[in-house]
Amino acid sequence: MSACEKCWRDAHMGPYVSVADEYARLIEERKDNPCTPEEQAGPDAFACPECGRRVLHQWTKEHMGPCEVANG
Ligand SMILES: [Zn+2]
Ligand SMILES: [Zn+2]
Repeated sequence: MSACEKCWRDAHMGPYVSVADEYARLIEERKDNPCTPEEQAGPDAFACPECGRRVLHQWTKEHMGPCEVANG
């Protein structure tokens, strides 16, 4: 599972906060209301050729969330 880019950026709380610890806390805090696949994939995400959404993670190119082609 690729890291959530949004939570990772949000975890940078300053020099006295461990990014890894804060990231883990944010994921736990948001687990009932997680970030969208687009947010998780990051601002430099790649577009999926199947569904056309920018949900391929910017580093790992993992497809974040299900690949659903909108119909209707
Ligand atoms: Zn997130
Ligand atoms: Zn897709």
